[in-house]
Amino acid sequence: MRIYNTLSKQKEEFVPIEEGKVRMYVCGPTVYNLIHIGNARPMIVFDTVRRYMEHKGFEVNYVSNFTDVDDKIIKKAVEEGVDSTVISKRYIEECKKDMAAMNVKPATVHPLATNEIDGMCDMIETLMEKGYAYKAEDGTVYFRTRCFKEYGKLSHKNLDDLQGGNRELLVSGAEQKEDGLDFVLWKPKKEGEPYWESPWCSGRPGWHIECSVMSKKYLGDEIDIHAGGEDLVFPHHENEIAQSEAANGKTFAKYWMHNAFLNIDNRKMSKSAGNFFTVRDISEKYDLQVLRFFMLSAHYRSPLNFSGELMEAAKSGYERIVTSVSNLNYLIGNAADAAVSEEEENLLREAGTFEAKFDEAMDDDFNTADALAAIFELVKFANTYAGEGRSAGFLKGLKDKIIALSDICGLIVEKEAGLLDADVESLIAERQEARKAKNFARADEIRKELSDKGILLEDTREGVKWKRA
Ligand code: AMP
Ligand code: ZN
Repeated sequence: MRIYNTLSKQKEEFVPIEEGKVRMYVCGPTVYNLIHIGNARPMIVFDTVRRYMEHKGFEVNYVSNFTDVDDKIIKKAVEEGVDSTVISKRYIEECKKDMAAMNVKPATVHPLATNEIDGMCDMIETLMEKGYAYKAEDGTVYFRTRCFKEYGKLSHKNLDDLQGGNRELLVSGAEQKEDGLDFVLWKPKKEGEPYWESPWCSGRPGWHIECSVMSKKYLGDEIDIHAGGEDLVFPHHENEIAQSEAANGKTFAKYWMHNAFLNIDNRKMSKSAGNFFTVRDISEKYDLQVLRFFMLSAHYRSPLNFSGELMEAAKSGYERIVTSVSNLNYLIGNAADAAVSEEEENLLREAGTFEAKFDEAMDDDFNTADALAAIFELVKFANTYAGEGRSAGFLKGLKDKIIALSDICGLIVEKEAGLLDADVESLIAERQEARKAKNFARADEIRKELSDKGILLEDTREGVKWKRA
């Protein structure tokens, strides 16, 4: 398995620190709003990396934080006149719902920055003791960037170029830094903001220190993979490396993975630019499996431009897989109990070549675009050879292969294809109950869930009728 490492700018063979295990940290969102589909890209991409590694037999310890103390959260709390924990809790819950709807597995641990303040103070203390950090007059603690000789190794930036770019800060005197390159580890409290006591001043941590500390606490000093969107390379990940390696004296992460942007009209989708769609917006129009398919249709290091056309293409691509499984289910239901013939054995072996192709694509830096193409070849093969008169064992063999590969991509095809009449009836009954209880939101949700799966409801005088679209 080869992974493109931002550190070396090359694809490298993946060799885990501990045999059979992967320690992986993915920077998570700042929780002050519903996540947009740009934020969803790293979630889907790295969830797929995780699933593939699990498929290869690795035990993956996957840690992804929520940044729950931040200027934007505080601003929103002030706007609503509530405590900032009300905002962060609300959007963590909403984010978890979106993740589940996109079939992104929950992390092994989802630490919250505000629960890890003690650890952050400990690391800052260590950095002070080692001379990598200092306290300014106002209580702000800075990292002494020039002391970390390898600063710039991830973003391939040269310290002197950076110094030029930062000169203005020094001249303005607005910051009490020794050097324009120094960055904040701890900052004094401001009126009305959340704060914690520390040896330096009452205040709160800078953003970068949280990931260094949570990664160390849940995964250890040295980890295999650290990941996030490419906007995090500099300064966030560069600063994380400086803090962790200066404090721990060990290489922080072996492989650094970064996804390219999800764009809209060729510009990065972002909250601040206002050019975004939330995952929730997309779910009004599409099954989120379609969004997942769309994200995986491009290599994670290529920019991906969001458009209605590409979403429609993703929809038909996804449906092609679902339909094939649905047909197989129908055929299996009607197949005779005959033994798998020799010819069928050979065909199943041939179908195995598409699994090998899938693995080959994923082994090459998680080329999900080619991996999906391998699934399509398998689907085409299944559509060609499945039919009346085939044994149930053969049909099931084909179906299992399609489902196994889709599952590695986190694409649910069985549930959709296998929505049985009984499931429809029970959802309709639940909808009737909800309506009786005047829970119209739930009733509408059920109608939508069914319509997403091609089931149309009609409320008649005799009761609810339904049909498959
Ligand atoms: P944030 O909440 O802005 O810190 O972002 C959380 C994660 O989403 C980070 O890994 C970002 O790099 C990533 N991200 C934000 N916007 C985009 C985008 N338009 N395309 C891809 N990744 C993004
Ligand atoms: Zn981070």
